[in-house]
Amino acid sequence: MPSEPTVARVDTAVYTVPTDAPEADGTLHWDDTTLVLATVHCGEAGGIGYTYAPAATAQIIDDLLADVVVGAPALDVPRMNESMRRAVRNAGLPGVAAQAISAVDIALWDMKARLLGLPLVDLLGKARDEVPVYGSGGFTTYDADRQHRQLCDWVQEDGIPRVKIKIGESWGRQEARDRHRVARARASIGAATELYVDANGAYGVKQATRVADTLAEQGVTWFEEPVSSDHPATLAALRDRLPMEVTAGEYGYTLPYFAHLLAAGAVDCLQADATRCGGITVWLRAAALAQAGGIDISGHCAPHAHAHAAAAVPHLRHLEWFHDHVRIEQLLFDGVLDPAGGSITPGHDGAPGLGLTLRADRAEPYRVTGTGPGAKGRAGDRHG
Ligand SMILES: [Mg+2]
Repeated sequence: MPSEPTVARVDTAVYTVPTDAPEADGTLHWDDTTLVLATVHCGEAGGIGYTYAPAATAQIIDDLLADVVVGAPALDVPRMNESMRRAVRNAGLPGVAAQAISAVDIALWDMKARLLGLPLVDLLGKARDEVPVYGSGGFTTYDADRQHRQLCDWVQEDGIPRVKIKIGESWGRQEARDRHRVARARASIGAATELYVDANGAYGVKQATRVADTLAEQGVTWFEEPVSSDHPATLAALRDRLPMEVTAGEYGYTLPYFAHLLAAGAVDCLQADATRCGGITVWLRAAALAQAGGIDISGHCAPHAHAHAAAAVPHLRHLEWFHDHVRIEQLLFDGVLDPAGGSITPGHDGAPGLGLTLRADRAEPYRVTGTGPGAKGRAGDRHG
């Protein structure tokens, strides 16, 4: 019997890509976005995973995680995920440590599928062929024309029947403009397209209740983080009171976080981010928690990191086709998926793993640091 394959090496690289226009939501502004890439090696096979996180995340991978997975059985991804979780005990799991683990975990799943010659969705087991997506952007920094063009691109060009814009501008201090932007969005997309909004926790509970009247008039069916997701009981109260779905979960860095949100009755649909919560290993567990509570799950941002796992989940609502991340993934990777008609089909071409290949030639100008050739020193972070 051949010897068991083991992980030989872990590399990191950090890429900072300027946005194509200034971007902001209700509570944060950014002009560039940083992707931290982990590459794991086993013999001739390699796997890639990533997270959108500060460049310091790469140092956590280099300093705390690489030694944990090197030498471990390459097929035992949950074993390595647990070892990594234990290794960051004193560093603190929630935050960049969980993002570091997430990038490595995704790379390990990609590598395992490549070792077995399978698309990752076929390794995990398919629950569906198609993964619905929703267009996400509509930044508060956009003028009317840019918002209109972006929404029309998703709805008319791509045929995506659901879109989301940001509201809660300047921590809720531009409420009148929020209302106007939502009305304009409805006018841009027509009555047949689902309209979602995301306040990123910008409002207080009373303000969120007031704004919800306008949202209901415009047929908004999804109100994401109307208030901070730090307060599940408040979210739960809003969920009871408002006609549209109340959703949250993107800041879940641990499995118990999702259990607490669900136990509080805080969300109509659980959001979880595989690039934050501990990778595909933990994302699938969060999905199981949601399913046990009769709640759908939606993947937050980084759509190509989620696509295969999402197709393995029966009660998936959709993935977030986030403008900022889609643009970066299309730039840095070959093998990206087509959202035409409102869904993507991971594994459709039989390519092994996640089906992604880093385009080093296109990525190199954006590289700021890493453990391989071309490292230039560490830089700051961005938000997605
Ligand atoms: Mg959000």
